[in-house]
Amino acid sequence: MAQKRKRTRRKKPAQRKVQPVEEILFLVEGKMSTFGGPRDTGMSADEGLALFTQADLQGPKYSYLFLPTPPPGTTGLGRRLNPDKYYFACRWNYNDTPKEFLKRALARVENPAKGRAAEARPVDWGPNISTGRVADLSPGLAAALGLQTDDVVRITISALRAIPVKPIKGAKRVARISRPAPPPAKPVIKQFIGSPNCSPRKPGTKIDKIVVHCTEGSLASTLAEFQKNDSRKVSAHYVIDRNGDIYQMVNQTDCANHCMGANNASIGIEHVGSETDSLAAPQAAASAALIRWLLQEHQIPRTNIFGHDFAPGYSRPGGTSCPDKLFGSVHSQATIVAWVAANV
Ligand SMILES: [Zn+2]
Repeated sequence: MAQKRKRTRRKKPAQRKVQPVEEILFLVEGKMSTFGGPRDTGMSADEGLALFTQADLQGPKYSYLFLPTPPPGTTGLGRRLNPDKYYFACRWNYNDTPKEFLKRALARVENPAKGRAAEARPVDWGPNISTGRVADLSPGLAAALGLQTDDVVRITISALRAIPVKPIKGAKRVARISRPAPPPAKPVIKQFIGSPNCSPRKPGTKIDKIVVHCTEGSLASTLAEFQKNDSRKVSAHYVIDRNGDIYQMVNQTDCANHCMGANNASIGIEHVGSETDSLAAPQAAASAALIRWLLQEHQIPRTNIFGHDFAPGYSRPGGTSCPDKLFGSVHSQATIVAWVAANV
């Protein structure tokens, strides 16, 4: 929404640019913990690392990650990691990011809440999915970023930052690793409440993008607004309440009026929330399910999910603050990309 409202937030020009998502080879955002080093008694004395072997202790590129000698009573590389160095583990899909690539990659690790970032090396596979976490960091890296167990971390490996290697041939541009893909099923639509503010798509249009929004208002006010036949004539295909209920207001064969300049080939999804809200958990789950189904239904590329302000073709002068901070702590397309990578 936020079509009419004047922007109240000053925005840096750089944030208006669509991020170079096509360069991102790996991206995840979620909870973290720490691991490795002499004091990590969660690792057994002989536990190794997925990406390194004893032979790598001699390698000049890698030896700095390890202590000069094994801690007393240990034989594995896990406890021999130098906890002050910057390393981490994620649940890699080796088809997308092979071990040899990861061994040489340099990742950007961020604390989105505090705006801190550091570069770090992948060393292991983990944590187990049952932990609900997406990454384990070295104690030194976590401390440098101001992260404590179960804080949210964002990790990116892009072709630009992965030195000294180039993108691997055939790699997916954005690797999904946080969970296995469930078969996309059409989510339950609680109610269809028709909006008059729609029009047929231009003949031959292929739906090629999804635009996500924040209502900046309540469910009731949004449903009412979209049913009004006034001069604003705003609508969206779907409205998702904070409890996860999905309302449909425009048929997918029609354009909804949700993103000026980018309505013809897009599907608009509104999420009930204020300018300062994050998505509620059931709402996020419903949105992810709806998006998964839409991607499959219309064969939309995963890279074509945009925040309102960042949608290609969006042409309203002055932009919009939508979707605000619903998808992460920063109003940016990178935030949307990270949310999609972690949830959809
Ligand atoms: Zn919007």
